[in-house]
Amino acid sequence: MNIIVLIKQVPNTSEVKLDPKTGNLIREGVETIINPDDLHALETAVTLKETYGGTITVLTMGPPQAMDALSEAIGMGADKAILLSDRAFSGADTWATSYTLGKAIQHIGDYDLILAGRQAIDGDTAQVGPQVADFLGLPQVTYVFDIEAVTTDYVVVKRRLEDGYERIQCSLPALLTVIPGAKHPRYPLVSRLLLACREKAPIKIWNAADIRVTTAEIGLDGSLTQVIRTFAPKFERQGEFLEGSTSGMVQNLIARFKENKLI
Ligand SMILES: Cc1cc2nc3c(=O)[nH]c(=O)nc-3n(C[C@H](O)[C@H](O)[C@H](O)COP(=O)(O)OP(=O)(O)OC[C@H]3O[C@@H](n4cnc5c(N)ncnc54)[C@H](O)[C@@H]3O)c2cc1C
Repeated sequence: MNIIVLIKQVPNTSEVKLDPKTGNLIREGVETIINPDDLHALETAVTLKETYGGTITVLTMGPPQAMDALSEAIGMGADKAILLSDRAFSGADTWATSYTLGKAIQHIGDYDLILAGRQAIDGDTAQVGPQVADFLGLPQVTYVFDIEAVTTDYVVVKRRLEDGYERIQCSLPALLTVIPGAKHPRYPLVSRLLLACREKAPIKIWNAADIRVTTAEIGLDGSLTQVIRTFAPKFERQGEFLEGSTSGMVQNLIARFKENKLI
């Protein structure tokens, strides 16, 4: 079974801070990690490989630092990794990101299953997995908690609902977006991490030309949405001291509540 896992390197915080002047993410001093849901996707892939054999290819689109995330993925058990890195990819919205990942997957070819995290903790849209499936014309199941059975033709998954689970059989090849399951993602092995550091490391870097996309289709130019301004919401509290006798202040307060339709 050949599996492609989509991973994203994200800041190790769910409280993303913005530079008020530029509107850009403040990345300085913030450690980066593999997006938590993606670790579960990777753990699912490694478990499947241990049972059914095959290869795991990890794919990410990101800056050169994303190499660290790929090395960690190799450490956890991935066989190969590909970093999509090119200035032309920058400024991509989720559409352009999914298109670029989709083109890279077509370039990789030969796969049975694509696993992605449900959601990235920085962008938080949960759009990339479903959009990649749509681009590739594949069936998709989101919120996958567990994979219960795999054959050469289909996969049976347990999908989480708000108040329970549903069991779904889905034909292969397919794309699944994964949520934290019963199994904790394994730690990378030092011997495998060393593999990722070797001169002949199983990590490739592909640019736009490698996946045969034009600059008009990717990055800022290929994005259907444009960010006009990014800002953090302002929380301003306005205080007012009421004066006078206690009963007068209470009457005043009740009148204010009524005025503002709070009571
Ligand atoms: C309107 C808009 C404009 C944007 N403009 C910019 C911009 O100008 N510059 C900029 O840097 N970013 C920009 N972004 C952010 C960028 O588009 C997203 O970070 C990216 O598309 C992933 O979306 P997400 O973080 O919501 O991932 P989600 O959809 O929440 O991620 C789900 C899963 O998809 C996979 N995945 C997500 N991203 C990647 C990736 N890069 N590689 C591999 N797998 C991945 C992972 O498995 C992840 O768990 C913009 C986003 C939007 C919505």
